[in-house]
Amino acid sequence: MKTQVQSGKLDIGVVKRGNMKNVCNNCSWSWDIESDDDKPYLCHKCGYDNKLGRFDMVSFNRWKSLNDIKDFIKETLKEKGLL
Ligand SMILES: [Zn+2]
Repeated sequence: MKTQVQSGKLDIGVVKRGNMKNVCNNCSWSWDIESDDDKPYLCHKCGYDNKLGRFDMVSFNRWKSLNDIKDFIKETLKEKGLL
């Protein structure tokens, strides 16, 4: 499911969509559920998956490295004045 992207803005998965909220059962961190997230119930603070009912460090570490890449791309685009 893809939502409308504002013209001139680059969508690299950081655009907030909808109002679906999730709260971590372990650390009470809350976040918006993104429809393109393959692990929408995984807490990005501590790695606890509300749906699985346990920590999922494999997915958590994968998400973290993916996020680092996203941040790197964003910073690079900003530096070049493309964002
Ligand atoms: Zn958490």
